[in-house]
Amino acid sequence: MSKVFCDKPFNHNYVHPNGKMRLCCTTIQDLPTDNNYNLFDANKHSIDDYWNSNRMREIRRKMIAGEKIRDCERCYRQEEQGAESLRSTEGMDEFIIDTLPDGTYQKSATTMQIQLGNICNLKCKMCSQMYSHMHGMETKEIGEQDPEWLHWVKEQGANVNNWTNELGIKQEWYRSKETKLKMFGHISRNITQLVVIGGEPTLIPEFYELFEYCDQQGTLKDKNVTIVTNLTNTNTKLTKWLPKLKKWQIWASVDGVGERTEYIRYPSKWNTILNSLEFYRNILNENGNITLSPAVQLLNIDQLDDIVKWWLDWCGGELNERYGFTWLATVWYPLICNPSMAPREWRLKVADKLSEYKFDQNYENIINELKRDQHTPEKYQELQTAFIKYNDRQDQFRGVKKTWRELLPELGIALEKSLKI
Ligand code: SF4
Repeated sequence: MSKVFCDKPFNHNYVHPNGKMRLCCTTIQDLPTDNNYNLFDANKHSIDDYWNSNRMREIRRKMIAGEKIRDCERCYRQEEQGAESLRSTEGMDEFIIDTLPDGTYQKSATTMQIQLGNICNLKCKMCSQMYSHMHGMETKEIGEQDPEWLHWVKEQGANVNNWTNELGIKQEWYRSKETKLKMFGHISRNITQLVVIGGEPTLIPEFYELFEYCDQQGTLKDKNVTIVTNLTNTNTKLTKWLPKLKKWQIWASVDGVGERTEYIRYPSKWNTILNSLEFYRNILNENGNITLSPAVQLLNIDQLDDIVKWWLDWCGGELNERYGFTWLATVWYPLICNPSMAPREWRLKVADKLSEYKFDQNYENIINELKRDQHTPEKYQELQTAFIKYNDRQDQFRGVKKTWRELLPELGIALEKSLKI
């Protein structure tokens, strides 16, 4: 089995919240235009413009030749650590047959992930300006009170916050009529598997316009649509379109049980989340599915067994066609959100607790990773100090009901011991 080939450059379109085009949601590389200077941007370019560009053709040639691609480093790394990655070799032989020697792929992609900007009502702990303008706004406001803190956050980069530019700016690349219709037309004609993310898609009018457009074209029946939502908002309009789809999934972004998810996905409310889940359960019929997609991270890893137990209970005891679970939202960056930076003593204690419960292989892999020291002593010190500084300041600004120290007292003690403070 190839260790570098992936179906995405052959069968997938991806539009980032800022309109830039990439191979998929995992990579952090925007695709350059043929002058190698500008970037493809949904505001100016169509999907057809980038599909057989110089860079896309080069990527396909390299993958077919068995060479590694720099855009795919995250997948390679996740696989080395025994984790699930998005890379897939399914259909590899056919994709290769349909590719010309120069890397041109003559068919259109049939799968797509579209990120409808960064309008969001939450400021999740692992999030940043790129995915939530509210998160960016808050970081900016803290910085106005405390310029030293903001300067430090920017210096820290992906250690504490993945995106610190353009704070508070709303990304709305889909607003122009021409851009919107080009994108909707491509999706309606070619895409059979679509993932829609925001920001929070259910807050964005164009999300509903896309459904209406495809409904008018009569193409909903060909589509399998996944909606990634934080469950803080539902809209009865969806009951018109979801039954007409071939299949649909809700990927439920819930990161803990009760007050823990309220803290991580601030300022969500647990009762609203439960009501939204019931809203979707009531319209599941034969073509719907609800999949829990927790962003597994340092702030909820100690609750992972409780999250799985709660979910299985909510699903009626087992996963099946209607109810699923995915690990794909596991948080790797910012690094202070990754459980690997916690003190060894605390990680081993959590691993012991989680080991008392059995779920699936990914669950086992996460436990094994907790037992492994992954950083130098200096890096541990740097990340642990940064974790405390970032979260203390954010908690203070938010005036949260319970701080991270109150929600995870044993982690607080372990960090102080590790840092000798
Ligand atoms: S290998 Fe990973 S990063 Fe590269 S295109 Fe595939 S899914 Fe995306």
